[in-house]
Amino acid sequence: MKRALFPGSFDPLTLGHYDIIQRGVTLFDEVIVAIGINADKNYMFSLDQRKKFIVDAFKDEPKVKVVTYKGLTVHFCKELGVEFILRGLRNPADFEFEKAIAHTNRDLAPIETVFLLTAAKTSYIASSIVRDVIRNDGDYTKLVPKSVRIEK
Ligand code: ADP
Repeated sequence: MKRALFPGSFDPLTLGHYDIIQRGVTLFDEVIVAIGINADKNYMFSLDQRKKFIVDAFKDEPKVKVVTYKGLTVHFCKELGVEFILRGLRNPADFEFEKAIAHTNRDLAPIETVFLLTAAKTSYIASSIVRDVIRNDGDYTKLVPKSVRIEK
């Protein structure tokens, strides 16, 4: 069984992440969306909220699992016996950043990183932009799946 880990902060899940996960499902038997816990980061959404947004978005897709983890992504992959890491590429900046991480990960463990180019219509979306729109009372609903809604 081919399984891929899709790691990230997902603060919050965006239509860009959603697109990568949906397309990942066509390539792998299982896509494990892994929310990294980083004690140094200040998140807008709690871990429970971030997890719920993803679980709800993929409630009808049994090939998507959602987990949380601490520490190195490759260690977590080894723990789960997962052989692939899935990442999205939006632009050259993503490429440079992801290239360094993927090379480092391969030095650390025999894990292949598979990159999917983002869909053109979601390639400009970033969680940081969504958070900015939310903070400033803008209409964030165009940028995120329906499961991501903020109660006021
Ligand atoms: P990180 O904390 O690693 O920045 P993110 O949640 O922002 O985590 O990103 C996780 C993954 O989702 C990365 O591979 C990133 O390139 C990808 N991603 C983020 N935004 C988009 C988008 N708009 N389209 C496709 N992939 C995206």
